[in-house]
Amino acid sequence: MSSIKTVNPATNKVEKEYEEMTGQQIDTILSNADKAFKTWRKTSFAVRAELLHNVAAILRKRKEELGKLCSVEMGKLLREGIGEVELSADIFDYYATNGAKFLADSPLDTPNGKAFLSYEPIGVLLSVQPWNFPFYQITRSAAPNIMAGNTVVLKHASNVPQAAEIMEKIFAEAGAPKGVYTNLFVPGSKVSEVVADPRIKGASLTGSEPAGASFASMAGKYLKKSTLELGGSDVFIVMPDADIDKAVKTATAGRLWNAGQVCVSPKRIIVQASVADKFIEKAKSIFESAVVGDPLDPKTDLAPLSSEKAVEDVMKQVEKAVKQGARLITGGKRLNRSGAFMEATILTGVTKDMSAYSEEIFGPVLVVYSVKDVDEAVELANDTTFGLGGTVFGTDTDKAVEVARRIDTGMVYINHVTGIAPELPFGGTKNSGYGREQSPAGIYEFVNAKLIRVTTPDAAY
Ligand code: NAP
Repeated sequence: MSSIKTVNPATNKVEKEYEEMTGQQIDTILSNADKAFKTWRKTSFAVRAELLHNVAAILRKRKEELGKLCSVEMGKLLREGIGEVELSADIFDYYATNGAKFLADSPLDTPNGKAFLSYEPIGVLLSVQPWNFPFYQITRSAAPNIMAGNTVVLKHASNVPQAAEIMEKIFAEAGAPKGVYTNLFVPGSKVSEVVADPRIKGASLTGSEPAGASFASMAGKYLKKSTLELGGSDVFIVMPDADIDKAVKTATAGRLWNAGQVCVSPKRIIVQASVADKFIEKAKSIFESAVVGDPLDPKTDLAPLSSEKAVEDVMKQVEKAVKQGARLITGGKRLNRSGAFMEATILTGVTKDMSAYSEEIFGPVLVVYSVKDVDEAVELANDTTFGLGGTVFGTDTDKAVEVARRIDTGMVYINHVTGIAPELPFGGTKNSGYGREQSPAGIYEFVNAKLIRVTTPDAAY
């Protein structure tokens, strides 16, 4: 049986199954992408922009249908799925509108003659993406790179094949020449063979640490430029001057978003000891009143996790934490029905010797720590191998910014969970990966910033 299939996590029923591609099919796709690059690299920015605007328009037109598909394939709430499709359209428009400006020649100051950087595409890129945002994940790698003149081969997560297939069709409908954007149906275990292929010139992966490490080692072996967007264990520091009601509301909403399966979900809440009980009591009340259920029902707050394995893994992490001495404040149980449902959960008393202290928990589980002051909060925030995002929540935003500067992550938001916008860079440091997506930075990852120097034969250099 193929591993590439849609299994609806709200029912655990197989909805649609796809064959893995054969070596011959993969070879044809890579050849077409390589051939397409030779022409696409020479197309004008205006033509590339038109393609991306067309993709954006189709996404907007079909947002209800595509949002629903997210629910069916990985359990996302319908309203979140629709929002994700709208965000994806905004990212396509952003690069269509600004790409030519970002990639214009960049002059360099030099005392002799003139010098400038010319940004040139490098070839076929392999984009490996996870299931948690089926359309947005594809978009943030495809939009800048196609605008830059590269061609893209997508390997999506095996549990969201319909989203992968539809995106290829959307590109074709939008007018993409054959080979500019293509979907590959291969399992993760076969990705290294694709990375090794000489036609692949750059490789990006968003996913877990083990997948990232294996992918980057293959990219290194074959000297391919790579970027990695990996897991995170974002901190949410509640400053002494914070409005506790607003802090609890923001943190709990952030943790329930996408059933907690967001790399930048606020996974570790750090609160001053004097208000910890109040914070926990309020968070408990919100979690206990969260409606767990059908992702298509507008009344649902907490959707199922993405698969049976996903919910089993999170339940094991919670059970292990409790066994090791953590306190279960609420939740910690699966729902008595079929589907990958679990209760919103709060843990306290997690200490350094427990697995929950250092592991990423990819589900609706809030771990609350209490500390004596801001210095201890910062020390705890940085005591992790992850370095993706984070939040500092407080009334005095200057003080919050000072604390933000001391946190070792790629992104820190003040008074908001780590968010997403086309114009803001997204990416991490430490074991959360390297490279940036979105914003101007996202378009420079896979271009050759070529120096062109105009001088005279008798110049010193
Ligand atoms: P995963 O197992 O690593 O899968 C992600 C993608 O990598 C899938 O397409 C998967 O294919 C593929 N893959 C798996 N093993 C591979 C290997 N050895 N070599 C190459 N590709 C491989 O990740 P996940 O558990 O589904 O996703 C959740 C993780 O992604 C979390 O840690 C989350 O924090 C992280 N994430 C990070 C960001 C970010 O921007 N930093 C965003 C979203 C998610 P198959 O499906 O075929 O196995």
